[in-house]
Amino acid sequence: MSDWEADSDEDGPHGASTKPPPTLPAWRPAAAPPPPRARGNPDAGEDREESGGGKNWGSRPASAREPWQSRPLEYRARGSSRGEDRERAPLCFPLDNALVGTLIGRGGTKIKELEESSGCKIQVVKGNCEAMIKIFGGNDKQTKAKMLIDDLIERSSQGNAGERYTKDSFKHPDVGTICYHDSSFGGLKSGYSSPKQSINWASLRENKAKYEAMKWADLPPIEKQFYRESPKIASMSQEEADKWRKENNNITCNDLKDGEKRHIPNPICKFEDAFEYYCDVMENIRKVGFQKPTPIQSQAWPIILQGYDLIGIAQTGTGKTLAYLMPGFIHLDLQPIPREKRSGPGMLVLTPTRELALQVEAECSKYSYKGFKSICIYGGGDRHGQISLVNKGVDIVIATPGRLNDLQMNNYINLRSITYLVLDEADRMLDMGFEPQIMKILLDVRPDRQTVMTSATWPDGVRRLAKSYLKDPMIVYVGTLDLAAVSTVEQKIVIIPEEEKRAFTRYFIDTMKSEDKVIIFVGKKLTADDLSSDFGLQGIPVQSLHGNREQCDREQALEDFKKGRVRILIATDLASRGLDVQDITHVFNFDFPRNIEEYVHRVGRTGRAGRTGEAVTLVTRNDWRIASELIDILERGNQVIPEELISMAERYKQFQLKKEMERDLGRPRGRSRKGF
Ligand code: ADP
Ligand code: MG
Repeated sequence: MSDWEADSDEDGPHGASTKPPPTLPAWRPAAAPPPPRARGNPDAGEDREESGGGKNWGSRPASAREPWQSRPLEYRARGSSRGEDRERAPLCFPLDNALVGTLIGRGGTKIKELEESSGCKIQVVKGNCEAMIKIFGGNDKQTKAKMLIDDLIERSSQGNAGERYTKDSFKHPDVGTICYHDSSFGGLKSGYSSPKQSINWASLRENKAKYEAMKWADLPPIEKQFYRESPKIASMSQEEADKWRKENNNITCNDLKDGEKRHIPNPICKFEDAFEYYCDVMENIRKVGFQKPTPIQSQAWPIILQGYDLIGIAQTGTGKTLAYLMPGFIHLDLQPIPREKRSGPGMLVLTPTRELALQVEAECSKYSYKGFKSICIYGGGDRHGQISLVNKGVDIVIATPGRLNDLQMNNYINLRSITYLVLDEADRMLDMGFEPQIMKILLDVRPDRQTVMTSATWPDGVRRLAKSYLKDPMIVYVGTLDLAAVSTVEQKIVIIPEEEKRAFTRYFIDTMKSEDKVIIFVGKKLTADDLSSDFGLQGIPVQSLHGNREQCDREQALEDFKKGRVRILIATDLASRGLDVQDITHVFNFDFPRNIEEYVHRVGRTGRAGRTGEAVTLVTRNDWRIASELIDILERGNQVIPEELISMAERYKQFQLKKEMERDLGRPRGRSRKGF
């Protein structure tokens, strides 16, 4: 099976836990009468008393799993677990304007048909040359809709779609009239010759290719090969290289180029193996005192320095930033067009959040290679200031897609000279809905650039993005491809009623030691504000981090937390990925995250750089949908699994089965099944 496809994890469960129950003191609720019995869902068999109401969190080792739990664990894109097809972020992809008419059909008939067949909502967003197609719905349905669309486009481009589109049929209120010619590019042919004739797809494609070629014709080829393999690394046999990879966090690599596979460079063992000829890089590494490359670095560096595109999949905190920055510096320095003659920056790093952008920028400046100037462009920051910095001339831009797209559309930044592109934390960028902006940005970046993409996970959306924007990449995974929370973190689950969460959190804070540092994750910005003012009033110093806070307050909050001026940070998932604060001892999930991937990222905020950490997660009855996925993660980390969580997962499974049966029988569903 190709690496482009979703594949299954064949590792299976990592064995049952024999650990004793976690050591966090048992939570005792206030001696108030028990809260009123929540209205349970009889279908789910949920019963508050039976559930223990959060009074204790007994545990059962993984070996006591039910038969349904013992099936092989499989890698799943989010929302596709156990047959459920959960709503997820829209699946977005670009479509040539000339093809939009085919998709929509006369009077919108085709798109309606597609929506009915797939069960998805399909939206077409107007663009200058290309439209953005967004498919809303569950994972499986989105995939089905995409396949139907691909099939339709393919058939119509072969001229046998069974329909002939006239010029008029391309007029659609949402997308405007399609026209594919530009007199400034002599030699381009019109896509259709008369209103009644069918579209000449071959000619449209030819035009597009010509236009692309002309757009970049004045630029010299990009220099990409900067690797001189050391004799020691070159002499490694295949077996030695494989053994080394296995022993270093199970590095696996693959060449995703179609056809004949290329040799995957041997991993390097020491910094000198990659940078012996680049003294400035070596000097910087010596200055910070790193001992040896991290596993992702040792495999990524020889691949990138050889000029290949790369997809790097590794957990957070594994050194991905330097994995792409170091070769990027060398690449930038040795381009045929010298820095001072470039019309704009040479390296672009796209990141999902401002915090991450600032962090990458800090690493860039820390290593200050040959005086390269780097700037950070992000929404919420001073736009004028950012524009004036761009105007002064920069080498490296680290940006969030929204703001960069804004500057690009307004011609404040020229992206033509970018030869090295990084899509950092690609999974997160997709989750945050940045695909349209990325698509627009990349229209202005030369297609023969070198591209590196990092991600902590490898779901379908990231595969699609990689396929669209990387050219014959190699892929490096560190660890297994399935979700796994960092092994250095002890994960404790507390089953608790919603109304007792605050009191438990206070109890948790009271039991913190003076050297502990915790991020408390909440689901909503409002909860973050609410909790932090509550604790503030109780005299507990906290900081909060969420999207509604002013940028300067967010930076201050992070700074206070990093420096240890406060030891409690209350945050939304804005802080769940990428942020590098080394001495966080605890992650406390006040609200369970939106999905299991986010859980893994949150947990990864602690246990960093070889330290151990602890994650405490509050789970309420309303979180029953995730119980089974959470069990999988706990099993893989060899953690204790509370009995309650297991029965929650079973009840949810029963509920789902019943729902399916009802659907099959065509019976209308009675009352709402939300929650229990
Ligand atoms: P990721 O992007 O994979 O989440 P980062 O690039 O933020 O991880 O790196 C996490 C931390 O590890 C940073 O503080 C970074 O300076 C440090 N680091 C990077 N490379 C090494 C190395 N070779 N040895 C030790 N620490 C490293
Ligand atoms: Mg990172």
